[in-house]
Order: sequence, then structure tokens, then C-alpha cells
Amino acid sequence: MKRTNTFAVRPLSDTGEQLLRDLLDASAALWNEVNYQRLMRYNDEDGFKGDVWDADTGQLEGKYKGVLGASTAQQVIRKNSEAWRGFFRLKEQYHDGSNTSITEHPEPPGFRGNENDGRQLQTVIRNTSYTVDWCERSRLEILVGSELKDRYDHTGRLRLEIAGDPNWPDYESQGRLDLWYDETDCTFRASQPVTVSDDARATPLASEEAALDIGANNLVACTTTTGEQYLYEGRGLFQGFRETTREIARLQSKLEDGQYSSKRIRRLYRKRTRRRDHAQEALCRDLLKRLYEDGVDTVYIGGLTDVLETHWSVETNAKTHNFWSFRKFTERLACTAEEFGIAVEVRSEAWTSQECPQCGSTDRTARHRDTLTCPCGFEGHADLTASETFLERHTKQTVRPMARPVRFEWDDHNWSGIPHPHERPKEQRTDPSTVHRDGNIASGESV
Ligand SMILES: [Zn+2]
Repeated sequence: MKRTNTFAVRPLSDTGEQLLRDLLDASAALWNEVNYQRLMRYNDEDGFKGDVWDADTGQLEGKYKGVLGASTAQQVIRKNSEAWRGFFRLKEQYHDGSNTSITEHPEPPGFRGNENDGRQLQTVIRNTSYTVDWCERSRLEILVGSELKDRYDHTGRLRLEIAGDPNWPDYESQGRLDLWYDETDCTFRASQPVTVSDDARATPLASEEAALDIGANNLVACTTTTGEQYLYEGRGLFQGFRETTREIARLQSKLEDGQYSSKRIRRLYRKRTRRRDHAQEALCRDLLKRLYEDGVDTVYIGGLTDVLETHWSVETNAKTHNFWSFRKFTERLACTAEEFGIAVEVRSEAWTSQECPQCGSTDRTARHRDTLTCPCGFEGHADLTASETFLERHTKQTVRPMARPVRFEWDDHNWSGIPHPHERPKEQRTDPSTVHRDGNIASGESV
């Protein structure tokens, strides 16, 4: 299994910090030079011969290897090549009429700041050019070029202290390390891709099951066969997403003719994606950890595409797809589930989000904000009810009576539980054994 350890690192001295900053800055400068050479060729600027791949990267490697070390100079150039290949791939998909997944015209790779306003401090280090020692006082040691060593009168690799514990301390091999300075909280950070043995996978504690309803206002509503319900609220996140989208549209309307984007627009796109990814990643981990502790071994999630033409309005669909990036979320979920030994199964959830659990009606129910009501008297949280109905439909097990649902809100770092959860639908609160399960029990007895 491929996994990633991310961690904060601290230089051990002021000189060490200065050396590290110089290393990251020179890496950004090299990136910018390579990118400039390629962008000029891509734009057919006078004086630049050939296409993107004709840029003389060998000369640039020579120029920077003294500071960075040859292997790091090569990695920076390679990473830029990967960014260009990614861009060409996207561009091809964008122009391919049969492919509708790319809706925005892709942009060539950007620059990492500039000399006057400051560069984005960032580098990549080859898997053989760094070592990580996980212990009580974990440390990272990276290779630096001879010119930097001379500048700071330093010998050997640069040693950095690691803060915190890794998710994956035991691995078979490590990949290319990303190392950067995070300006939002003034911290140096690293991400280390690792290959972990399949034995590292957890074994489910029991064979309970769970079903998820995925949306934009409530990101995930979950019901388990043990009778747990979890609700991850997305209103704040979604609002932020919408505000950024509006700001992007406003900036785009001010662009001059023939111009497709600007630095500010690109930064906003990045910010928007980063926020969503961070919240998604944290949600998957928080949820699957809970499900693992509940003894769940299988999670059902709905294939949203099934419901495109039924009850979902076009606007709601566009909203959810865009914001939540459903496919990506499913992949992320499956990937995290693998760590816990939990299987993810995508099943049709057509109609479950408006089916009345009491009388089974799908066309008489009405949804107002988070509440689903039915003329038969049912009233309940729409998304939690949907996940419950969805679970009942796919599991062969008996779903136990529901405990009070737990709600979670995103505070930009964590999903934290809210102490006073939504009340359960009144019928179920008074007597969990009645309501729609009556029917099942009755038919069970008559057999
Ligand atoms: Zn009903």
C-alpha cells in the first residue's frame, strides 16, 4: 500500500534555518528558470527554439547543482516536467468532446513566486538523498550542495528535528520527499511517501455495516447497523467554497480580452481545492476510525450518478459534484478504508433520499431544509433518514434501534462533535421499536 507521512520539521539552529531557507529558495529559483524556458517555448516567443521539451535543462542543472546537490537539482527539474505532462494531459481531455470531466481550461504550470516579492520556499529530495529516523527524538537529514556547505561552514547532511509521530512509522521503502515552508503558520513541513506492507492493514473487529448519504449541506450522513448515526455538516465549508467561487468569477470578468487567468485567480483556485481536500481527508479519517471502533467491515456509499435524472435538481447536482468532487471523495474514502480493513461498496441509492421510512412513499414526501416530512405523519432529519433507508435496503443484517445522532462541524483543522445533537424524529424517540420496523417484525413472525 502507498501511504504518506506528513510532519513538521524544525532546524536545530539559526544557521541551520538560514541554510534550509537558501536551499528551498534556490529550488524555487531553479523551478522558475526551467518553467520560464518551457513557457516561452510553449507560447512561441521569439528567440526560444523548439518546443517545451527542448529547453536546456542540463545547463540549468549545472548552474544549480553546487547549491542544491545534483540529485535535488534533477528532482526539481523532473517535478517541473511532471507538471507540464499533467498540463498536456488535462488539455487533451479538455479538448476531447467525449470527456466532460474537465470543465475549466487548464493553465500551464505556474511560477513559484519571484525574486522581488519572495519565492515560495519549496523543494523535492530524492529517496536516496534523505534519511528519516523515527524514534523518541525523530529527525530528518537531507543532502545539501557543497556551495551551501561552504557558505555556512557546514559538514554532512542538514539535520532537522521532526515534530509529532508519523501515521506510518514502519514501511518497506520511501519515495521522493516534498519539503516546504508553510507561510500560513510559519512552519517547515515535509511529506514522505512510503510503501507499507499489506500486513499493516487493520482487521475489522466485527462484521457490522454502515451506509453513507453524501451531499453538500450535510457532507456525510451515516447510519450503522449498530444503531449509530453520524452527521458531518458542510454548510460553513460550502459557504466558503461559494464565496471563493464568486470572487473568482468577479476577477475573471475583469480580465482583459485574450487573457484567461491571473496569478490571483490561480491562487484562489488552489486555496479552494486545498481547503476542500483537507476537510475531506480529515473527514474520511475521523469517520472510518469511528466505524472501525463500531466494528464495521463494510460501508455502502451511493452512486450519485444514478439519481441525476430523478429527484435531484440540476442545480443541486452541479453544486454537490463541483464542491464535493464525488469521485475523488470516493477514492479517498476507499483508500482510507483500506487501512482499516473496511470494504467500500458503491450501490445505487436512487430514491432513498426521499423515501418515507414509515410508509415507503417516495412521491408524497417533502423536504424543507434538513427535515423530511410525509403526510403519514413521519418527520425526521432528511439525510440521516436517507442513510438509514439506504442501509436497510442493502444490508442483510438487522439494524439496531438508533441512538441519538452525533453531529460534527469543521473548524478548519478538526471535525468536532457538537454536544447537543439534533433530536431524533419524534416517533422513533418515543419508541424505537415501532415505526417502520413494525412491518418487518410482523412479517417475520408470520413466517
Ligand atoms: Zn410516509
